[in-house]
Amino acid sequence: MDDCDELREACGVFGCVSSGDWPTQMDVANIICLGLVGLQHRGQESAGIVTTDGKKGSKFHVHKGMGQVNQIFNEDNLCKLKGNLGIGHTRYSTSGCSETINCQPFVVETLHGLISVAHNGELINAKSLKKKVLAHGVGLSTGTDSELLTQLLSLSPDCGEPNGVDWPARIRGVMNETPTAYSLVVMHDETIYAVRDPYGNRPLCIGSLISNLSVLSDSRSGDSSDSDSDYNQGWVISSESCSFQAIGARFYREVLPGEIVAVSKYGIKSLGIIPRPVENSYSAFCIFEYVYFARPDSILEGQMVYTVRKRCGRQLGIEAWVDADLVSTVPESATPAAFGYSQQTGIPYVEVLCKNRYIGRTFIQPSKRLRQLAVAKKFGALTDGFKDKRIILIDDSIVRGNTMQPIIRLLKNSGAKEVHIRIASPPITHPCYMGINIPTKEELIANQMSLESLPKFLGADSVQYLSVDGLVSAVEEGIAGLDQHKIGHCTACLTGRYPVQLDW
Ligand code: SF4
Repeated sequence: MDDCDELREACGVFGCVSSGDWPTQMDVANIICLGLVGLQHRGQESAGIVTTDGKKGSKFHVHKGMGQVNQIFNEDNLCKLKGNLGIGHTRYSTSGCSETINCQPFVVETLHGLISVAHNGELINAKSLKKKVLAHGVGLSTGTDSELLTQLLSLSPDCGEPNGVDWPARIRGVMNETPTAYSLVVMHDETIYAVRDPYGNRPLCIGSLISNLSVLSDSRSGDSSDSDSDYNQGWVISSESCSFQAIGARFYREVLPGEIVAVSKYGIKSLGIIPRPVENSYSAFCIFEYVYFARPDSILEGQMVYTVRKRCGRQLGIEAWVDADLVSTVPESATPAAFGYSQQTGIPYVEVLCKNRYIGRTFIQPSKRLRQLAVAKKFGALTDGFKDKRIILIDDSIVRGNTMQPIIRLLKNSGAKEVHIRIASPPITHPCYMGINIPTKEELIANQMSLESLPKFLGADSVQYLSVDGLVSAVEEGIAGLDQHKIGHCTACLTGRYPVQLDW
């Protein structure tokens, strides 16, 4: 899937707590900034960082702006973000428009002191929650779910009765009001609360900042036994563990669905799990994190995303074999699936396209024709490898189909004998209400035409998708204790089966 045919992730959140007092050797603002660079794939519209020294009543230092992390932060503004804890955010908008006012983290003064909140996801019952908040005389200025959540936290647990005894109680109150979809970092005084909704729809994990960088590993067991030589210097919280290695942090564990974890200089402490409103229901982690959104080096549900993508490719090789000379991919997100397909079928993997990294984001082109040309300009054909050959081209998903057409044309014009398209996920047929921006039902290629008509439309010799069962089994094969822990996955955009009632 490429820029002009892509689904867009809602956001990335990050938090950092130093074990020592400011000033310390550990520069919290710089660590958050680097952490956000690691989460840049989850949102490129805006970014922000808020820090504080953690003392009761201390002020918050804020810097936010439009654009990518490297465009917003520099030595000057990072120097001003003093403190030994802070949170950060990268944004792509799904609710609320793309403007500075919507940049996160939000900072709000409440009866209980200052809080700052960063949010990834979209509240499925935002409309009714908004009515409640407005009914209690609270004004909303941004139109985002994230501001709504922040105001709810100030009012909770009874939405209007500011009687929550403390922030964990107020967070619990909000979680009881809305079951999905959110991962949050909430900062108050010396604590950051890491929060995942009861369905666990969006990812969130915790890492340990260690002093001895030579012992870095992903440490998936969650073993916290830091030895004298690699003592803990603090904690980080992130939407994805891919941001940990660049900042000298070791993966510690994931925040569980419905869990609130308090992170401070004293360590990390689970404050319990809010149950799902439907007894015995399964969690509903977004399966598209595995297909496309998450970085391949991230660990989700105890497994590396790269490995799952390879398994999807293997499964696709079982379900959708075709006689051909080589397997290849549209660089780069589908590469692990192409490796898996090649391993399964024994058909050699050969690169057929190279990417021009400097063409820029194709979605800014105004007309469909220009967008298509921009896609074609983005790739060059490695003709020596495929002249007169039959190619199986693997992609991770098709949304509108307007990326694939010019690529197939390019390959055929450059000498490919046949081009067979294999998609390492099922057809996307339904909208997402949990924080992913999917085009309208009418725009989705899978709703526009039958599978039989698709090869002709795309100019391919054949097209096949991975089945829903195939995708789910490739994902769940690597997760221990599925039934025991009631672990499940949201497949709503592929099946129309939403994890919660939409009028909840
Ligand atoms: S509907 Fe699709 S994109 Fe949205 S949360 Fe579910 S699986 Fe993810």
